[in-house]
Amino acid sequence: MGKGFFNVPEPTNEPVKSYAPGTPEREAVTQQYNTYYNSSVDVPLYIGKDEVKTGNTRNMTLPHDHQHVVGTYHLAEKKHIDTAISSALEARVQWSQMPWEQRAAIFLRAADLIAGPYRAKINAATMIAQSKTVHQAEIDAACELIDFLRFNVKFMTDIYKEQPASSSGVWNRVEYRPLEGFIYAITPFNFTAIAANLPASAALMGNTVVWKPSDHQIFSAKVIVDIFKEAGVPDGVINVVYGDPIMITDTVLASPDFSGIHFTGSTYVFKEIWKKIGENIHNYKTYPKIVGETGGKDFIIAHPTSNTKQVATAITRGGFEFQGQKCSAASRIYLPKSTATEIINHVKEDVASFKMGSPADLSNFITAVIHEGSFDKLASYIDQAKKDSDAEIVAGGNYDKSKGYFIEPTVIVTTNPNYATMETELFGPVVTIYIYDDKDWSKTLKLVDATSEYALTGAVFSECRYALEEANKALQNSAGNFYINDKPSGAVVGQQPFGGARASGTNDKAGSAQNLLRWVSPRLIKETFVTPVDYRYPFLG
Ligand code: NAD
Repeated sequence: MGKGFFNVPEPTNEPVKSYAPGTPEREAVTQQYNTYYNSSVDVPLYIGKDEVKTGNTRNMTLPHDHQHVVGTYHLAEKKHIDTAISSALEARVQWSQMPWEQRAAIFLRAADLIAGPYRAKINAATMIAQSKTVHQAEIDAACELIDFLRFNVKFMTDIYKEQPASSSGVWNRVEYRPLEGFIYAITPFNFTAIAANLPASAALMGNTVVWKPSDHQIFSAKVIVDIFKEAGVPDGVINVVYGDPIMITDTVLASPDFSGIHFTGSTYVFKEIWKKIGENIHNYKTYPKIVGETGGKDFIIAHPTSNTKQVATAITRGGFEFQGQKCSAASRIYLPKSTATEIINHVKEDVASFKMGSPADLSNFITAVIHEGSFDKLASYIDQAKKDSDAEIVAGGNYDKSKGYFIEPTVIVTTNPNYATMETELFGPVVTIYIYDDKDWSKTLKLVDATSEYALTGAVFSECRYALEEANKALQNSAGNFYINDKPSGAVVGQQPFGGARASGTNDKAGSAQNLLRWVSPRLIKETFVTPVDYRYPFLG
C-alpha cells in the first residue's frame, strides 16, 4: 500500500435470516437442497492451478440418508501432497508481496458472495454434508463465515496500525510479515465456517496454505473453494487435499518449510500432531506456530436461586442443537436438589416436543449425527448407562441407523460426579446431570473445575450476585468462554472471541486479532536520519 491509508468497511454481524414459511430464502434453500440431492458432483484436489483427479475415489453420502450418494471425491497420494507444498511455496513469492488492501478486497468479496449469490448453496451444502437444520446452517455456513471474513479484515488493519514510538532523529516501523514457509490447515466436520476460516485467516495475512478438510465436510468444502475462486484467491494460495490424514500430515510435517499449523478437531489428534512437530523440530527453517482448538466437556451449573425455565432452555438448546456436535455444547450439568426435579421436568417436556428427521423437512429440530463411528460410540455409552446402577436415562435412550444415523436426544441422571459421561467428550446429543445438595454449592464449584481435562465453555445460572461472583472466581480456569445466565454455545464473531485452554486448545481465540497475530512474524525497521560517525561518547571526555 503506497498511496493512501485506506479504511476498511466497518464490519457488523451478518443478520440471520428466518427461513419462515413463505420467505424467499426458504424457497431458495429448498430448491438448492433438491438440486444437490438429485445430482452428483466429482470433487478434485485443488493444487496450484490444477484440479487433480486421482481416480481413487470415495462416495459422499448424507448422515441422515446414508445410502444416498451425492458425489465422489478423490484421494491424494504422497506425491500430491509434495506438489501441494511446492505450489504453496511458489505462490508465496507473489502473494506475500501483495498489498494488504488487495488481499482484503478478495476476502471481503468472498463475504459478499456468501451473503448474496452463494447463500443458498453454502447452506444447502451444509444441510447435506453435515446434516444441519437450515437454521444451524445459516448461523454457521452463512453468517459466521461472513463475519469471520469481514471482521478479520478489520482486525488485520488494527494489527498493522500497531506501531512503536520513535525518538528524535529515528523512525521505528514494524511490518507484519507473513511466516516464512507455508501453513497447514486441518479442519473438522462440524462447522463450515471453521473449515473456511482456518485457511482463509492465514492467507489473509499473506501466507499460502495446504488445507486438509474433514472427509465428512468435503461436499460443503467444495462450495467454499468455488467461492474463494470466484472472489479471486490466486492459484496456489490455498491448496486443498483429502485422503489418509496420517499420510498427509506426516508428509506436510516432514517439510523444512512447514511454518505453522491451524488446527481444529479433537484433542488426541492435536496432541499427536504436536508430538510429531517436536520430533521434526531440528528439520524446520523456522519455529512453527502451533494453533489448535480442540475438545470440550462443557458445563452448566445452576445455583438454587436460578430460574428453572432458563436453566432448562439452556440445557435443551445448549445440549441438543446440531445434535450436541458443537465443541461448545453443554454436556455435563450440575443441578441443586431443591429445583432439580422441576428443571428436569421442563427438559423432558422440551425433549418430548423435538421432531427428529431429515433437515430437508424444515420442521425437524434434531437430525442425524455425522457418521457411523459416532453413532456406534454414542449407542454404546447409552447402552452402558442402561446397565449401570449409578446412571438412569430419564429422556431419550433410543437410536436407529437404518436410514440415517439418528440418536434420540438423551438425558442421563447420575449419582456419580465422575461417571464416564460426565468426563468424556461424546460429541453427540447426550447430556448428563449430577444433582448436588444445595448446601454444597461451593464444594460443587470445585468439582466442576476438577472434573474434566477440558476448559472450553461453561455457564453459571443464578439470581444471586454473590453466587455469580463466587462462581466467576472459582471457575476462572475452567472455561475459555464463560457464560452468565446464558447457554454456553453460540459464540458470535467480534463479540465473543472463541477458544479454551487446558486440553481444549491453545486459546488463540478464533474471530479476533489475537488469532491473526499468530500468522505473522513482525519485522522491526529502525532508520536513523543523521548517523554517528565517531564511536567516542561524550563521557569519554
Ligand atoms: P477429528 O479430530 O476427528 O478430525 C479433525 C481433522 O483432523 C479432520 O480433518 C481429520 O481428517 C483430521 N485427522 C484425523 N485424524 C488425524 C491424524 N491422526 N492426523 C492428522 N489429522 C487427523 O475431529 P472432528 O470429528 O472432525 O471434529 C470434532 C472435534 O473437533 C471435537 O473434539 C470438537 O470438540 C472439536 N472442535 C473444537 C472446536 C474448538 O473451537 N475448540 C471447534 C470445532 C470442533
